[in-house]
Amino acid sequence: MNKAKGKIEIDPARCKGCRLCIWACPQQIIKTVDEADRRGIQIAYCPEDALCTACGFCYMICPDAAIAVYKKETAKDFSE
Ligand code: SF4
Ligand code: SF4
Repeated sequence: MNKAKGKIEIDPARCKGCRLCIWACPQQIIKTVDEADRRGIQIAYCPEDALCTACGFCYMICPDAAIAVYKKETAKDFSE
């Protein structure tokens, strides 16, 4: 099984805090921030990029296209 290391970027303006990405991530590395933003939303973020496998599940499930996934070897963006 390919365990290529990856990283994600979450667009804070697009994230609506639905937490689907948190549910979908097999590595359980996506969290929500403690403080709500001015919309009253606790947006998602990923504090543990070192454990990201670039599987793309978070990207696929996000209903707001807020997540970009990168493979470290190729810098390929799954959202393109
Ligand atoms: S699935 Fe998308 S909109 Fe929902 S919390 Fe994650 S990044 Fe935000
Ligand atoms: S690409 Fe996969 S491992 Fe990385 S944060 Fe998204 S769901 Fe988790």
